[in-house]
Amino acid sequence: MKAAPPPSPQHTLRSAKALIEAGLAPATERTALEHVEARYAVAVPPVLAALIEPGNPDDPIARQVVPQAEELSTAPHEVEDPIGDQAHEVMAGLIRRYPDRVLFKPVLVCPLYCRFCFRRAHVGPGQAPMLPPHQVEAALDWVAAHPEIREVILSGGDPFMLSPRRLSAIFKRLDAMAHVEVVRIHTRMLTAAPEKLDQALLEVLGASAKPLWVVAHINHAKELTSQAVQAVRALMRVGVPVLAQSVLLRGVNDSVEGLGGLLRALLRARIKPYYLHHLDAAPGTAHFHVPVEEGRALLEALRGTISGTAMPTYTLDIPGGYGKVPLDADHLQAIPHGNFPGMVKAPDGSTRSFQR
Ligand code: SF4
Repeated sequence: MKAAPPPSPQHTLRSAKALIEAGLAPATERTALEHVEARYAVAVPPVLAALIEPGNPDDPIARQVVPQAEELSTAPHEVEDPIGDQAHEVMAGLIRRYPDRVLFKPVLVCPLYCRFCFRRAHVGPGQAPMLPPHQVEAALDWVAAHPEIREVILSGGDPFMLSPRRLSAIFKRLDAMAHVEVVRIHTRMLTAAPEKLDQALLEVLGASAKPLWVVAHINHAKELTSQAVQAVRALMRVGVPVLAQSVLLRGVNDSVEGLGGLLRALLRARIKPYYLHHLDAAPGTAHFHVPVEEGRALLEALRGTISGTAMPTYTLDIPGGYGKVPLDADHLQAIPHGNFPGMVKAPDGSTRSFQR
């Protein structure tokens, strides 16, 4: 008789040992996975653990959150800061890449740790989890003193890891800045731990005087559980619309069925697909890379077969911090064949290279 799978975990799994005991990682890989765990943060929350099919290495949720031995290999083009956060840091926790927007990172922990995380060298246990209060105040003082900033993007880490009280304090400061028109929140919480969007948090979000937009990071239709869909509806009830950003990932959503299924599921959940990101070249992530030609062909295959409202913009965050550009004919320069880098036109008109 076949052994019953271990019961779904009640707590976030944070080690190779816990994942192996839960039947979500192979015991034969223990040594390699412990090396991965020593290098990069691991967290698989219960909602996602329950979605993983034990023993299936191709499970699209497991691929995203369960550590893999391939993470121990760093490709020559991979770097710790692939999108050039540091080059644009105006002070601790504050990144300015564009004239009218600023990225504010008050927290450096997440409810899960993506195996392809673009900030994997800077998020997770081992870092100070939160910006100290005096640095939060200093960052907000900087925004208050810069009237050209129209939009503040809370990112991290996951801003919903902050308590409602701390978030409320940030929103109140932003509410008092007449020049800040919009506040955006980038989060994985809707699918990783939707229960965190409780009454206390919804009240804080609903009380913001500034328009809030939530941009949820979601890569596969399976992530859209009934709890996640309810969390989206709860956000909408307090006046917060939800967009999605996804990463094109080998073995997760790199097929017409996988990507089309995700985009349709997002629309059904009342979420507008916003960005589909080309993978950022963070260390140990090459096994997730999908070449840009393949990404463009996938979107082309989907065009006309799914609603235009479901189509995201296929986007590159140019390595080194030169900004985001759509991976379209206007921005892509002639791409040589072979293992040469691709070339794109950056927002400042310069030509920049990337791992195609
Ligand atoms: S949610 Fe974002 S910051 Fe957090 S681990 Fe995933 S990619 Fe990294």
